[in-house]
Amino acid sequence: MSIGVCYFPEHWPQERWENDFEQMAAAGLEYVRMGEFSWSTLESERNEFEFDWLDDAVELAGEYDMQTVLCTPTATPPKWLVDDRPEILQEDPDGTVREFGSRRHYCFNSTAYREETERIVTTLVDRYADTPHVVGWQTDNEFGCHRTVRCYCDNCAVAFREWLENKYDTIETLNDAWGTTFWSQRYTSFQEIDPPGPTPAEHHPSRLLEYARFSSDSVVSYNRLHAELIRDVNPDWFVTHNFMGRFPTLDAYAVSEDLDLVSWDSYPTGFVQDRYQADPTRDQLRAGDPDQVGMDHDLYRGALDRPFWVMEQQPGDVNWPPLCPQPGEGAMRLWAHHATAHGADAVLYFRWRRCLEGQEQYHAGLRKQDGSPDRGYHDTMQAAAELNELGDVDHVGAPVALLFDYDNLWALSEQPHAPTFDYWSLLGSFYGAVRAYGVQVDVVHPTTDLGEYDAVVAPALHLVTNELADRLTAYVEAGGELLLGPRTGVKDEHNRLRPAPQPGPLAELIGATVDQHESLPSHIDTTVQRVTKQDTKQYAFRTWAEWLAAEDARPLLAYDMDDVESGRTAAVQNAVGNGTAVYCGVWPESDLAASLIRPLLERAGVPHSELLPDGLRVGERNGHTWVMNFSSNRYRLISDADRSWLVGGPTVDAFDVAIADGAIVDGLAVTRLG
Ligand SMILES: [Zn+2]
Repeated sequence: MSIGVCYFPEHWPQERWENDFEQMAAAGLEYVRMGEFSWSTLESERNEFEFDWLDDAVELAGEYDMQTVLCTPTATPPKWLVDDRPEILQEDPDGTVREFGSRRHYCFNSTAYREETERIVTTLVDRYADTPHVVGWQTDNEFGCHRTVRCYCDNCAVAFREWLENKYDTIETLNDAWGTTFWSQRYTSFQEIDPPGPTPAEHHPSRLLEYARFSSDSVVSYNRLHAELIRDVNPDWFVTHNFMGRFPTLDAYAVSEDLDLVSWDSYPTGFVQDRYQADPTRDQLRAGDPDQVGMDHDLYRGALDRPFWVMEQQPGDVNWPPLCPQPGEGAMRLWAHHATAHGADAVLYFRWRRCLEGQEQYHAGLRKQDGSPDRGYHDTMQAAAELNELGDVDHVGAPVALLFDYDNLWALSEQPHAPTFDYWSLLGSFYGAVRAYGVQVDVVHPTTDLGEYDAVVAPALHLVTNELADRLTAYVEAGGELLLGPRTGVKDEHNRLRPAPQPGPLAELIGATVDQHESLPSHIDTTVQRVTKQDTKQYAFRTWAEWLAAEDARPLLAYDMDDVESGRTAAVQNAVGNGTAVYCGVWPESDLAASLIRPLLERAGVPHSELLPDGLRVGERNGHTWVMNFSSNRYRLISDADRSWLVGGPTVDAFDVAIADGAIVDGLAVTRLG
C-alpha cells in the first residue's frame, strides 16, 4: 500500500524542485504523477519539443526513490493546435463551439485530433521508453469532465451514422427496433439521423439511449488509441485512466477493458454537494458521505476485479463545489484509510502545492503556496506511515454484489418520470444499507458471473434481456439470494416498453407482476408496513411506488397511506429452487432498506455487524478490520473478543480511524460516547 501525490513541476522554478521531492520523500510518498496538462510546455509550437524539464523532474523523483506516473497531455490541446486545426473543437447541441480557454475542448471523433494525439503520445512514450523511474501512464485526464462526453459537431454526426449502420445494418431494422412510427419519425436512410439537437419536446428515447451509448463508445475508442500506443513501446508499463465520482455519461466498465489499472479522483466534500440528493449534514460537509465515496471505490474495484488507485485524493478545501468547507480534523488521513479498506493499492493526493495562477488557485495542496505544510500534509504523513507498514495488501473480496449498469442509468435519466428520481441515489439507498451492516460490496455489471456471490442486490434493472432474466433465475435456483428494486424489467434493450407486464421476463422468478406504478412528491407521507403485522412499524419510502399483483409470491409489504394505494402490495418474496427472490416496488428510505437487507444477509449466511450509525463504517482486508468514523461523534466498539490493534483502539474519535488485527465484523456493535 502506497501514498503519492500529483505534482506540476512546470508551475514552479526549477531550483525549488529538489526541495519539493525531498519533502515528498520525507513524508513517505512513493509515487508522483506528472505531465498531465503540459502539452504547450512540451511542445510550444508544432514540432518544437522541450522535454528537458520533464526529464529532469523524472530523474529527480527517481533520486528520491519515487516512481513516476506520466500522463498523456491531451486534455488540453494548445492554442497553436486549435488555431491550426479548429475542426478539433467540440460543439454544444445548439451548434455553439466550445472554444479554447479552459480544458477538454476537443471532440473524440475528430480525425484531426486523433492524428495529433497519435503524434504527441508517440513522441512522449518514445522519449521515456527506457526510463526506469516511469512505471505507468495515465491516459488523458477525467474523460468527460465538464459534460464533454457528448459532442454534437459534424464529426460526431458522421460517426454516429456509421455507428448506427454498423449496429443495425438496415434502416428498416432501426425503425422497427426503435418504433419510429411514433410521432412520424421513420427514417429512410442512416444519413437522415443527426445527433439529438434542440427540439420543441423531448427526443425519442431509443434515439437518446443510442446517442448516449455512441458517445461513450467514442471515448472508449479514443482511450484505446492511447493504450495501444503506450503498450507498443513498453508493455511493462501499466495503463490507467483517472475516472470521476458518480459520473453519468461514460461507461467505466467499457473503458476499463483497455486498462491494466483503474483509478479515480475522490473529492468527498465536493461530491456530497454537487452529486447528492439531500442537503449535506454538517458532518458530511466536513468529511463527505462514506457510502457515496465507498460506492465509487467499489465500482472502480469491480471494473477489473482487482485493486484500484485513487489517482487524485482531496487534500483539503477545493475550488469547484458550491461551498468549500474545511475538512474535519484528520479527514484527509481518514480518506486514505477508507480507500485502502475498499481495495485501493495507492492513494495520490492532488496536488503538492496550492498554485499561484490559473483556474485552481482556490484548491488546496499538501503544501501552501509559500511551500509551508498545509493541514493535509500532516494527515498525509500519518497515513503514509500507517499504510506503508502494511506492505502488499490483498484484493478485497465481497460476499454481496450490487448490479450497476450504464444503460439503465442513461435510460432512467432520459425518462425519470419524477423530478427527484435518480438512479445513482436509488442504488445508494440499497448499497448504504448493506454497508451499514459492515459488509463489503462489489458494484458490478449485470453480465458478471454471479455464482461467487452469497447475495445479489439489483435495484432498477430497467432494461432486461431474456438472457439476463435466465441468468438471475439460475442464480436463485442454485441457492442465491436476490433482492430486486423498483423499475425492474420494464423495457427491452432498445428502450421500448415490453409487451408483457413488468417485470417482463422476471415475472416468474418473483412470482408477481406490477399492476400499476406512480411517482409521488416528497411533501406527501409515503409509508408501508409489514404484511405479517408482527412488525407494526411504519417504514417510509420516497418518490416511486409500484402496486404488485402477487401470484406465487408471498406479500411482504403493503402500502399504509390512507389513500388509493392503501392495502395494496408493495413488496413480495418468492422461494425458487434453493434460493429466494425478493422484489421491492418502492424506493426505500434507510430504515426500510435495512429491514430488507438484514434478512437477505441472514438467509445468505453473510457475517454482519449490528446496524452501524450513519458515518461509521467498517471494512475488512488482509485479515484486518478498518473502523472509519466520518462523523464528529465518538464511538466505542462492543466486541466479545479482546483484540490487538494496528492503529488506534476500540474507541474511535471524530474523523478518526482504527485498524483491528483480525475480522471483527460478525456481531459487532457500537455505542456512542458523545
Ligand atoms: Zn464532435
